[in-house]
Amino acid sequence: MVTPTALPRIGAHTPTSGGMAKRSIGYAETIQAEAIQVFTSNPRGWATPEANPDADLAFRSKCEELDIEAYVHAPFLINLGSPTTGTYENSLRSTEYSLGRGKDIGALGVVIHTGSAVDESHVPQAWKQIQKGMMPILEKLSDDSPMLLLEPTAGQGQSLVKKLDDLENYLKALKYHPKVGVCLDTCHVFAAGHDIKKKGGMKATLDLLVEVAGIERIQLIHANDSMDVCGSLKDRHQNLGDGEIGTEPFKELLAHPAVKNAPLILETPGEEPEHGKEVALLKKMRAGVARK
Ligand SMILES: [Zn+2]
Repeated sequence: MVTPTALPRIGAHTPTSGGMAKRSIGYAETIQAEAIQVFTSNPRGWATPEANPDADLAFRSKCEELDIEAYVHAPFLINLGSPTTGTYENSLRSTEYSLGRGKDIGALGVVIHTGSAVDESHVPQAWKQIQKGMMPILEKLSDDSPMLLLEPTAGQGQSLVKKLDDLENYLKALKYHPKVGVCLDTCHVFAAGHDIKKKGGMKATLDLLVEVAGIERIQLIHANDSMDVCGSLKDRHQNLGDGEIGTEPFKELLAHPAVKNAPLILETPGEEPEHGKEVALLKKMRAGVARK
């Protein structure tokens, strides 16, 4: 007998301005999200604002009450492989801070971008410094800490993960620590040159990811269409169905066992009206998969 495949939750990145519990949960209710992603600090800065335990408790209780799973996206500036000492040190501090904030709000995962060595000659050193800086941080995590989720970028420049195969190097650097997982962004992977648009392409890409990372590490999907063609190396998200990927590949995605532990989170343009429509679209596709 075939084990029935669990189907993933569906949701979106939500704003937090005006208070995380009020704004992001209100947003989630409006668009009918079953999972959300939030920033816990300015995504374009290094600031590590102090936590507000009452606000965190309010957020956690709301998530529990409404059965919403939460994820954190750490700042975009984080680049653990940077050749610049200041950037590297800030990246470690910001990653550790985000993991701590993720635990405070009851998040299941904290996403960081896999980053770039900037200069080709820095690549070997990049893997060494990632190991040296991150292993003590990972070792300090407790059972109820979120997982650190590595999100491959669009493959531009000296990206440490140009194609999914390169994730192996990142996982090796982090000694396949059990608290390390993967977040797959459909726009990024398409831009990096994995043709998820052609029939069977999404399935093949997810099969590869399972082979490289192991199914249990695939913890989150960023469900985005792309403004640019496959292999463009450009990171420009588009609303589902309005970009170069189209909606068909998302049916393949929802039907794949790799997403059983991995909610789909939209990071597409727009606000409640657009995201509400996209959540409904993905749920309809999921219902189609469930009937098969
Ligand atoms: Zn993303």
